[in-house]
Amino acid sequence: MTVRLGEHVRIMAGTEGPPGRCVALEGRIGHFVTCSIYDRRGTLCREFNPEHDDGSPNEMCDRARRAHGLPPLERQEKLSDR
Ligand code: SF4
Repeated sequence: MTVRLGEHVRIMAGTEGPPGRCVALEGRIGHFVTCSIYDRRGTLCREFNPEHDDGSPNEMCDRARRAHGLPPLERQEKLSDR
């Protein structure tokens, strides 16, 4: 379910390059998807967020969406913005 990336890192199979589709991703991209191993997902997945702490977009997320023909996520209004 994983592949080696360098000497010390393993990544989910299917995410090696664009457009990429993780082997654990179920569903139809752009409609409804879910992670089939969500409770057991690795550190890279747990640390990846679609936006940074300051609310700015994560370009890697937008790039992954673009690779599948999807627009960037619309920025969510944060409670602190109100
Ligand atoms: S969160 Fe789940 S579906 Fe997404 S890359 Fe990680 S293992 Fe794959």
